[in-house]
Amino acid sequence: MVDTAGAVVPVRMQGTPVVPGVVYAPAVRPAKANLELGAEGDLAEVDRAPESERFLLAANAVAERLRQRASRSSGVAAEVLSANAAMAEDRGWAGAAAARIAGGMPATHAVVAATAQFTAMFEKLGGMMAERVTDLLDVRDRVLAELLGEAEPGMPLPEVPSVLVADDLAPADTAGLPPGMIIGLATERGGPTSHTAIIARQLGIPCVVAVPGLGGVVAGSWLLIDGDTGEVVDGPDPEVARVRVAASEVDRRAAEGWTGPGRTSDGHPVQLLANVQDGPSAQASTSSPAEGVGLLRTELAFLDREAEPSIAEQAEIYGQVLHAFDGLKVVIRTLDAGSDKPLRFVTHPDEANPALGVRGVRIAIAEPHILERQLDAIVEAAKGASVAPWVMAPMIATIAEAREFAAQVRGRGLVAGVMVEVPAVALLADKVLAEVDFVSIGTNDLAQYAMAADRMSAELASLTDPWQPAVLALISAVAEAGGRAGKPVGVCGEAAADPLLAGVLVGMGVTSLSSAPTAIRPVGAALAAVTLAQCQAAARAALDTESPAAARAAALGILRP
Ligand code: PEP
Ligand code: MG
Repeated sequence: MVDTAGAVVPVRMQGTPVVPGVVYAPAVRPAKANLELGAEGDLAEVDRAPESERFLLAANAVAERLRQRASRSSGVAAEVLSANAAMAEDRGWAGAAAARIAGGMPATHAVVAATAQFTAMFEKLGGMMAERVTDLLDVRDRVLAELLGEAEPGMPLPEVPSVLVADDLAPADTAGLPPGMIIGLATERGGPTSHTAIIARQLGIPCVVAVPGLGGVVAGSWLLIDGDTGEVVDGPDPEVARVRVAASEVDRRAAEGWTGPGRTSDGHPVQLLANVQDGPSAQASTSSPAEGVGLLRTELAFLDREAEPSIAEQAEIYGQVLHAFDGLKVVIRTLDAGSDKPLRFVTHPDEANPALGVRGVRIAIAEPHILERQLDAIVEAAKGASVAPWVMAPMIATIAEAREFAAQVRGRGLVAGVMVEVPAVALLADKVLAEVDFVSIGTNDLAQYAMAADRMSAELASLTDPWQPAVLALISAVAEAGGRAGKPVGVCGEAAADPLLAGVLVGMGVTSLSSAPTAIRPVGAALAAVTLAQCQAAARAALDTESPAAARAAALGILRP
């Protein structure tokens, strides 16, 4: 975008990151299929069989070309090209087109109509099937080009390393990417399991999908793509962009070689833990450098249950997690049912605002036995463990709730804590900490409630950003209270997965960070590169700002000078 004085103004967009890494390069776009379908009128009886034949020959020619490209490719690229070749010859789809031609429709129109019938069906099925819509539209355009005698739609052949920008990419496009010349991908549509994402992962090209506004990017403009955060910037400051690319390269190398344990360069320990949801995910995260589990989201293990699992069943699942990390810290969170994670066996009223309703620990007020049985199951599971599990409640809002919960947990010989997700508890952190053995800050909900912004809303994502100075101030107040009480203060929301923010949190006094296991290495490597004093300076600087962007910039200036 250009302002009135003719200067380029960066345009920031936010999408879903799927392959990490940062690139900065000019944008290229695939050639659009610009196909004129011709007259729609009824075919004469005598022309219908030859038209049908012409359609089949076109579909076969496209299938054959895709198969040849598959034979020249390897791995996933070859698989998706073969799958698309099969789609061009699919009997259902070809039959739907042929039936229309037999009814008098010209082949081009019949192909469009048959494709629309199938894409509507795929979209209705949703999920993986909906993501195959792009593949079928690609086949349609290739067959149309063949019928019309036009060049096959396809990829540009850039002369300098470029970022490929598209509405969505078909596998035939991504599979045929000129190696070394396309160094990043961004698409307006698509999801983390779309073919674009699958092939980008295979090629190791930084990739961001589902980026609203990307349609406004013109070929030739310089783009920054951040596959770690999902940020896409059209026309960024070139110097800033180059620094980010270089930093990402350094980070990537450092993260690959980092093995733990979590500590700053001057030896200040910071436990780096994994967020898990059941036995298999805990087992899988043992291959990361996680020093334990910082958040077992127990409700996620029971999303498909009609009835409350028995104590024995629950004990079996919690036991698997304890076993996977035997001898290490495991923090089990009691059921956080309701709002975005409803459980069928937990009854609570229909509510106008479920995020502000009877969720998390509030359910125990109406149905105390569910919590009691869950705590009994944890005791049962812990019988075979060498370290007593830490148990915490979600959505605590008052001192009395913290006190009551801690009594129940300690009464069973377990270590008692609460989550800090409601600002009321952050504001009274000293008093809450007096009641419990530890706290863990859930920054996802803390940001939602502090900023009065739905965490599920893409439109409000800038408000629920954990870098919001108001959210940072609440976290800092809790961390300081933890220091005064001499009790651990963890962070287990998404904020703990941000390598730059990790330094700021540690500087505030946070003692452990729990995140998706894949984030542990980048966070560990980032902490290993800075001193505690730098973290403390970054925390002070970030807290002194008025916006997330300024807070990030302040932290960058100190932690990555
Ligand atoms: C949080 O709110 O930050 C948190 C860790 O809990 P959940 O995301 O499960 O609500
Ligand atoms: Mg939460």
